[in-house]
Amino acid sequence: MIQATIQRVFGLGERPAIGRWLQFAPPLQARYDADHGAERAAELRSAILLGLCFYNVYSLTALLLMPDIAALGIGLRLGLFTPLMAALAWAVCHLPPVWNERLIFGGILGAQGFPVWQFWLTESPLGLLTFGELFLCIVYANMLLALRFRYAAAFSACALAMTLLAIFLKPGLSPTVQLAFTVQIVTAAAFALCGNYRVERRRCEDYVSALGATLLAQQSDAARRTFEDLSRTDALTGLPNRRHLSETIDAWWSAPGDLALMMIDIDHFKPYNDSLGHPAGDECLCRVADALAAAAHGGEAFCARFGGEEFAVIVKVEDEADAVRWARRLVRAVQIARIPHPARPDGLQMVTVSVGAASGRQAGVTSPASLLARADAALYAAKTKGRNGFAIGETVEDMRRAS
Ligand code: GH3
Ligand code: MG
Ligand code: MG
Repeated sequence: MIQATIQRVFGLGERPAIGRWLQFAPPLQARYDADHGAERAAELRSAILLGLCFYNVYSLTALLLMPDIAALGIGLRLGLFTPLMAALAWAVCHLPPVWNERLIFGGILGAQGFPVWQFWLTESPLGLLTFGELFLCIVYANMLLALRFRYAAAFSACALAMTLLAIFLKPGLSPTVQLAFTVQIVTAAAFALCGNYRVERRRCEDYVSALGATLLAQQSDAARRTFEDLSRTDALTGLPNRRHLSETIDAWWSAPGDLALMMIDIDHFKPYNDSLGHPAGDECLCRVADALAAAAHGGEAFCARFGGEEFAVIVKVEDEADAVRWARRLVRAVQIARIPHPARPDGLQMVTVSVGAASGRQAGVTSPASLLARADAALYAAKTKGRNGFAIGETVEDMRRAS
């Protein structure tokens, strides 16, 4: 499930999220770098600084075991490798992650090559005892620096090749010692690389699992929000539905300031449906919804489909005059839309609406429910006064002349 989610989200098709060499697919790698790049850089820096301390401790063994080249060795360690590694420790926190891995790979290869070269060069009888330093460096690169597996494999192979060359090219080594050293260095490289593989595989798998779980959580959150939106939207007109309207009335009712509720009903809609058919009726509902939503847009207003051919608009108002202006504006908006209505019994030939409005400050309005009842009563008044107009409180305005 998690693998499948990652493959789909990152467009990987059938390709596994983790490759054979424990590398992430490129888009996943970019995400990993974004998520963990800084953490990895900090880890690298502390590992480099720790390695640098121990690297210089080996100046002491150089002095004791390879007095013939000690001056050269200590000079190079202090004068060349120490500043280079310090620069590397600085660079890892300032370069893109992909360069970090390459730089570290180059740096550790140099750091391995130097003691190998000293081992090969020294003619001191105790010089052979520095051999232990060579496999410690391999362990350090694989486990402490924790090179990414493909770099660790390449490094281990190069380190092994360099060391074997030194073993077999060093003058005066008996075949017995050569064999013993070969077994030791091969074993050390194999152990270190196996350890690196395990750690790296766990890191990759843990990341993929955690990322998959995050993506699944995000998807289910997005799906939940979509369902929530759908459950509050009218499928035909795209306006907020009655549930959303009720929530908004409740919220606005508890907020400071006055509000007015406009109930809007299409006039003579039944004959429209009966003569032009239901699909045309639906189309008409959408056009009326658009006209009302456009009229409500911009101000502090909320437009919803109440149900059937009824709509509702709630507005923040200062006083009743404000509510009257809003009611007039809504009736006018549908008149301006000029939607033909050939079956209208009064011969007007145009779709119009009647609006019944009530404001929260009206006497007797004590709750959202009573506000709704008052607006409904006003709508009834607007209808009985001849439609195509509005009513609010004592004000009933017939707007037929305006159409
Ligand atoms: P009045 O001016 O008094 O409001 O008359 P009216 O004909 O509009 O009133 P009535 O309530 O009798 O008719 C409402 C009609 O609205 C009846 C129904 O067919 C229609 N209607 C309700 N919902 C829908 C809908 O979703 N689509 C369509 N096409 N028609 C609908
Ligand atoms: Mg009706
Ligand atoms: Mg009607």
